[in-house]
Amino acid sequence: MKTIGLIGGMSWESTVSYYQVINEKIKESLGGFHSAKLVLYSVDFHEIEQLQSSGEWVAAGEVLADAARALKAAGADFLVLCTNTMHKVYGAIEAAVDIPLFHIADAAAQAIKEKGISTVGLLGTRFTMEEAFYRERLRVDHGFEVLVPDQEDRDLVHRVIFEELCLGKIDAASRDAFRTIVAGLVERGAEGVILGCTEIALLLPPADSSTPLFDTAAIHARKAADLALL
Ligand code: GLU
Repeated sequence: MKTIGLIGGMSWESTVSYYQVINEKIKESLGGFHSAKLVLYSVDFHEIEQLQSSGEWVAAGEVLADAARALKAAGADFLVLCTNTMHKVYGAIEAAVDIPLFHIADAAAQAIKEKGISTVGLLGTRFTMEEAFYRERLRVDHGFEVLVPDQEDRDLVHRVIFEELCLGKIDAASRDAFRTIVAGLVERGAEGVILGCTEIALLLPPADSSTPLFDTAAIHARKAADLALL
């Protein structure tokens, strides 16, 4: 079994899900007392959030590149970055080490293709919904049509992620608002919706929805466990 390196803590609320899902998948595959070999570098999200909101992406990339080097030195065979947003600095992290960094959007794309879906909605932080690094990877590399909510709804989703979900707060009114936003995306032609922020499934569990919801944290974690067993 390979050793997985997790760059986590963004936020720790969702890194917990990664640890759980990876271990569940390894146990399901190997049985008995088997559990994942992994090393976790959990950052201080306060520091990362400050760099995000002040637009200091190069500095944020350096923090995560340092984490990647530490994980490699600790024995990781490949890396998983446990947040969608910070894939904005994927290139800086990937360039820092000579082990693979498994992109979260590629994991999501594999899962969506398995369902035969070609038009997807995307929920996430403002950075993930609005910037090219995520949407274009889905569109150009994987051939999906990607729909995002309108400006007002994007602001709401972004606010709920940072003011509630990353702080461990689950609010019923926000859940209703997210459901309405998902329904709006479906009305516009989305056959499924990517929960492109690793905390959203804590608010909107895919099992409770009649629309296919792709929980990027769970998908990324399960596929990382598969890679560890190759
Ligand atoms: N975990 C979130 C994501 O998947 C948001 C936190 C962050 O900005 O990294 O994008």
